[in-house]
Amino acid sequence: MLIYIKNYECLALILKFINENGLPYFILGKGTNLLVADSGYNGVVLSLLKSENKLELTGESTIMCTAGLPLAKVCMFAMKNGLGGLEFAWGIPGSCGGALYMNAGAYGEDISNIVLEASHVDKTGNIVNLLAKDMDFSYRKSYYSDKNFIISSMKFKLNPSSENEVKHKMFENIKKRKSKQPLEFPNAGSIFKRPGGGFYAGTLVQDCNLKGFEIGGAMVSPKHAGFIINTGNATANDIANLIKHIKKSVLNNFGIELECEIKTLGDIEI
Ligand SMILES: Cc1cc2nc3c(=O)[nH]c(=O)nc-3n(C[C@H](O)[C@H](O)[C@H](O)COP(=O)(O)OP(=O)(O)OC[C@H]3O[C@@H](n4cnc5c(N)ncnc54)[C@H](O)[C@@H]3O)c2cc1C
Repeated sequence: MLIYIKNYECLALILKFINENGLPYFILGKGTNLLVADSGYNGVVLSLLKSENKLELTGESTIMCTAGLPLAKVCMFAMKNGLGGLEFAWGIPGSCGGALYMNAGAYGEDISNIVLEASHVDKTGNIVNLLAKDMDFSYRKSYYSDKNFIISSMKFKLNPSSENEVKHKMFENIKKRKSKQPLEFPNAGSIFKRPGGGFYAGTLVQDCNLKGFEIGGAMVSPKHAGFIINTGNATANDIANLIKHIKKSVLNNFGIELECEIKTLGDIEI
């Protein structure tokens, strides 16, 4: 069951119902980092994408936004207001809630660099405010990871710049993305986390000669081996099997255990 949450009052009622009935639930952002089992999910999926959204300046260089907003919209808003700091996020698809949960980042920067504070709704419906220093950020991880709390809004601290300068950086970033990433095919971004020790997942996969390797409709992108593309009719199982094959190959060849960056929903293992 998919429920679009309209506002806090609805959310409190829905959580009460979920808790009283002991139902499993999942918070969906824009699903850009998600592999959903072919058999679906036997629980309640909550979405903020159709919520009453807010995006505003709260000071000279601070922005408040609700979690269901696309990150791209906030990047544009920052640009139009001559505020820098979010340029790295231009091109990261997904919602603001998903970006905070994942501590999304690129080009050496991530959300932890700019977030000031955020609000979430805990499992019993209480609204909790958290300062950035309490968000336990690390690479693609935050305090919210695996907690099932619902991030509702956040504040970003940006820096005064000019619209043109911000626009230029955003343009440069998207150019890099287009040249390196297989954006012409459906994909879920980088499948694996950077393994550390100076290694890159994409290079390790490439060095296993797996570029272009296919299982069903899932293929290791010939353009960037860190991505898996859907060539037309890939099932979630095809993708999961390809991920397992890649992990095994990298482990056998280099002794490195790749960890997935993408999340799963439902009965599927990667
Ligand atoms: C082409 C492409 C390029 C990408 N490039 C990058 C990149 O450069 N850097 C990067 O970091 N990522 C990248 N990604 C991955 C993805 O876009 C990010 O992780 C994004 O932040 C996920 O946001 P989402 O709203 O789609 O989250 P979803 O995929 O819907 O969910 C991801 C996780 O966040 C949780 N979540 C979402 N919203 C909330 C909320 N409101 N409250 C609590 N939990 C929530 C979900 O439960 C889930 O566990 C890329 C993906 C694609 C397809």
